[in-house]
Amino acid sequence: MSVSNQSTGYCPDVTCWPPVAAALDRLGVGRPAGFTTEIPFRRCTACAEINIVRDGDLVCVFCDADLPAAWNIRPRAPPPAWGT
Ligand SMILES: [Zn+2]
Repeated sequence: MSVSNQSTGYCPDVTCWPPVAAALDRLGVGRPAGFTTEIPFRRCTACAEINIVRDGDLVCVFCDADLPAAWNIRPRAPPPAWGT
């Protein structure tokens, strides 16, 4: 798999970041209460990209680094890639 650092516009096979990030931003909390399915997010500690954990696979889809076991995304400090 080849993935560049240009994460903006890159969509995982299940969903895209912008609408999810916007929803989280509106909520102002780390819990997507409006979702019928709880999506486990993790920020990669190696490349700082946001990942959605699927099937308990704690591996960054961008750089293959291990992801933290605990939720670690801070809505107050969104990365530039989240945009507006
Ligand atoms: Zn990574």
